[in-house]
Amino acid sequence: MTDNNNGVLVVVEVLESQPIDLGLEMLALARRLTDSMGGTVTAVAFGTGLESTGETLIAHGADQVLINDNSIFANFHAEAWLPDLSKMIAEVAPAIVLIGHSESGTDLAPRLAFRLDVDVATGCESIEIMNGRPHMTRSCFGGLAREVVTFTKTPALATVRSKSQQALPPMMERAGEIKHVDSILDENSMRTRVVNRETEKADGVKMESAKIVIGGGLGLGGPEGFKTLNEIAELVDGAVGASRAACDLDWCPRSYQIGLSGRTVAPELYIAVGISGASHHMAGCGNSKTIVSVNSDPNAEIFKSSRFGIVGNSQEIMPALAEEIRKLKA
Ligand SMILES: Cc1cc2nc3c(=O)[nH]c(=O)nc-3n(C[C@H](O)[C@H](O)[C@H](O)COP(=O)(O)OP(=O)(O)OC[C@H]3O[C@@H](n4cnc5c(N)ncnc54)[C@H](O)[C@@H]3O)c2cc1C
Repeated sequence: MTDNNNGVLVVVEVLESQPIDLGLEMLALARRLTDSMGGTVTAVAFGTGLESTGETLIAHGADQVLINDNSIFANFHAEAWLPDLSKMIAEVAPAIVLIGHSESGTDLAPRLAFRLDVDVATGCESIEIMNGRPHMTRSCFGGLAREVVTFTKTPALATVRSKSQQALPPMMERAGEIKHVDSILDENSMRTRVVNRETEKADGVKMESAKIVIGGGLGLGGPEGFKTLNEIAELVDGAVGASRAACDLDWCPRSYQIGLSGRTVAPELYIAVGISGASHHMAGCGNSKTIVSVNSDPNAEIFKSSRFGIVGNSQEIMPALAEEIRKLKA
């Protein structure tokens, strides 16, 4: 596929009829990119119950929305999305295709790139147009450096990290076109089927939208440490995350993992408890407004990224902190 030049196409994931925040963040990025290179912002949504999705996406920056409302798309399944998505891209001919750097997005993007015979840059944090070409910035060397990549073919395909962009405030009066698309998927041609899907029970605030995130690492000493972090998170309306090492040991669910190969957060306050501050971890929380760390090692790397540091034993400090917050709230 070559010489596509019609702006940016954004694949927006929809959960329970609502576009996820990352989809809206990518629309803001697409708006900025088309302002500089021309063309339209096209949003694509797959799923069911998408009656109000089109208006929401237009209010957040889309010029046109392609809706594929079909029960087969109720849950994400890359193989099912690919034929329709490829057709939409062929018809719209965007210069850039943006997909969220989520679990679904990182499954979908390489398959789409293969199908379109183009390249993909995953985990992008920013995109600029220079000399008429998109230049994507992303982490490399385990989060120790940033690299800028560009493309020789179009569309340029990128997955975008959560919280690397800021969504536009909705403008309900924005005009745009909503098209309902009939699926071309031949279900008999699918080689894989989703036989079961389990949704992990998640209480409290979602990590990506929480104003306070408390991350726990090996310095917590065991799974009990996460109980205290969860108590504190509940008291302050925050969310709990973790280092990969803590997830690997099953001290907490895998979905807690923050970092290069986990989730990206950028809260007002990130409290890192018993986390060493490896670059792989910081890649997922380094954009937090304020980082406060608790670590028994005064030379821990995490203190270099922290505004405030507490040197001490997390197993004493965190229960004491929970107690103080409880008293304050009472
Ligand atoms: C390709 C790749 C991808 C990766 N992706 C990720 C990722 O997405 N996210 C991630 O987190 N990691 C990731 N890692 C792993 C990463 O490099 C580190 O190994 C990991 O983050 C370390 O976790 P930790 O800080 O909990 O453990 P450690 O590095 O062991 O640090 C534990 C810290 O706790 C402190 N401590 C010990 N006892 C106490 C106590 N009683 N009280 C207070 N502090 C105490 C120690 O001083 C130390 O600083 C990745 C690695 C690779 C190679």
